[in-house]
Amino acid sequence: MNTINPTLSSSSSVNAAGCSFNQLPLPEAMLATLQQLEYLTMTPIQAASLPITLAGHDLIAQAKTGSGKTAAFALTLLNNLNPRRFAVQAMVLCPTRELADQVTQEIRRLARSADNIKILSLCGGTTMRPQMTSLEHGAHIVVGTPGRIMDHLQRASLNLEALNTLVLDEADRMLDMGFYDDIAYVAKRCPAGRQTLLFSATYPEGIDRLAKQFQRNPQEVKLLEQHEDSKIRQRFYEIKNEERLQAVGILLRHYRPVSTLAFCNTKQQCRDLLDVLHKQGFHALTLNGDLEQRERDQVLIQFANRSCSVLVATDVAARGLDINQLEAVINVDVTPDPEIHIHRIGRTGRAEENGWALSLCSPSEWHRVNAIAKMTHSEPEWHSLASLESGGDSPLLPPMVTLLILGGRKEKIRPGDVLGALTGEAGFTREQVGKITITDQTTFVAVARDIAREAVRKLSAGKIKGKKVKARILKD
Ligand code: ADP
Ligand code: MG
Repeated sequence: MNTINPTLSSSSSVNAAGCSFNQLPLPEAMLATLQQLEYLTMTPIQAASLPITLAGHDLIAQAKTGSGKTAAFALTLLNNLNPRRFAVQAMVLCPTRELADQVTQEIRRLARSADNIKILSLCGGTTMRPQMTSLEHGAHIVVGTPGRIMDHLQRASLNLEALNTLVLDEADRMLDMGFYDDIAYVAKRCPAGRQTLLFSATYPEGIDRLAKQFQRNPQEVKLLEQHEDSKIRQRFYEIKNEERLQAVGILLRHYRPVSTLAFCNTKQQCRDLLDVLHKQGFHALTLNGDLEQRERDQVLIQFANRSCSVLVATDVAARGLDINQLEAVINVDVTPDPEIHIHRIGRTGRAEENGWALSLCSPSEWHRVNAIAKMTHSEPEWHSLASLESGGDSPLLPPMVTLLILGGRKEKIRPGDVLGALTGEAGFTREQVGKITITDQTTFVAVARDIAREAVRKLSAGKIKGKKVKARILKD
């Protein structure tokens, strides 16, 4: 079993990790909200960064995905906010609409004790006009992608005169996506006296350039990955290059994880693997830049609600996604960068769960495994594919199936309405109903695989919010 030693370098003490938020200079109402959300103790990145940011300093923070960075900056910008002043006082730049949506939701949750704080999400992929109308009505906080925010600045539909907090979230990914110039354009139009917070999962060169150009004496908090001992069980499988894609199926049939994130080094490898997995009967999907936003959303919904067993992705495509309950990470290719390897496998084994980190490694990749071993001070545990049981002939099926209902937020459908329709007259139990996701025009609900057909039939025969609805199984 491999354990990864925590490495930590920080300009402030992180002994406060695991301590309560009460020791921070936050208003009572905010502390009460945190209690309600069951944020009882600070995560390490929160404990390390909040004392700095609440004192008004600029910050560069690096910590892995899922470490609670959003609340770290959300608490800061809410603390800087004057709700009575109806002007944009905080702005968060994010690489994609998904991430902007996740950030918007988290800020909304944290802002619920304060009255009437208006948060707007401004991302590309939709028309400008409704966003301009919303901006005319005023907002306290905007969250958006750099390109779209730049558009609004060029049309003068967004006024940043009152801005006091600028956040660059997932800065590394924004740089990967070529947003440097757009970020620069936006940052130059923010008031000079603002506080600038930069958050990132990794620390590529461009970050320093951003910091130098747009921050004032930033303090740095860097939490290199600290995987908790024993939660991640890591194994390396020696393979020949030509058996690599087949080997993924062998691992899946042996370990039988409900949800697996499979990392490839290239997009082509993702496509090839997806073909092989589909031929073997696995429910697998891929995330890549060629998908339309709507398709991307559907992939993530199906993976998060456990109706898709395997999500195949490159590092860039998977970065920043907040996916809970991941039983396994498979490194289909070993990455040349040990830091990225640590980041990949840190996606599994969160919270109370154990997780598998399985890596396929051909002789030409051995030096990469050595680099990982050196960085993590651990001895790699080697296994052979031949030692694995096939798990019989039973295919690995996801426990849930996603149903799609035509009608969503526009029709004022809420999760309770869908749950009610299924557990009421339709007669299903709460346990047979999984995650419910509502978008503007569509509702997705996960149900247990064995009731999927019947659930579609009953939903189509019954009513939601007093109206007949169309429902069908979403094919992956
Ligand atoms: P990151 O941006 O670092 O990837 P997120 O901000 O998305 O991480 O947080 C990951 C998850 O942890 C979220 O579901 C969030 O609600 C939860 N979380 C954040 N802070 C705390 C806390 N102090 N206690 C409990 N859960 C938390
Ligand atoms: Mg984040």
